Amino acid sequence: MDKPEVERKWIRCPHCGAKHSLYSNAAECHGVFLLCTRGCKQEFELVIEDGVQLNPDDLATS
Ligand SMILES: [Zn+2]
Repeated sequence: MDKPEVERKWIRCPHCGAKHSLYSNAAECHGVFLLCTRGCKQEFELVIEDGVQLNPDDLATS
């Protein structure tokens, strides 16, 4: 199911909310780890499903 790329959103650090890079609403991403260089300096996994960035901590219910 290819969707046209119509919108770009900011990847945000789930820890501190710092902006990183842009992704499109057609993106899918798992298993990519980014280092928050602009904010908290913590590592986080970039998870994008169906063009929406998800917070891995939200997926693992506590
Ligand atoms: Zn951060």
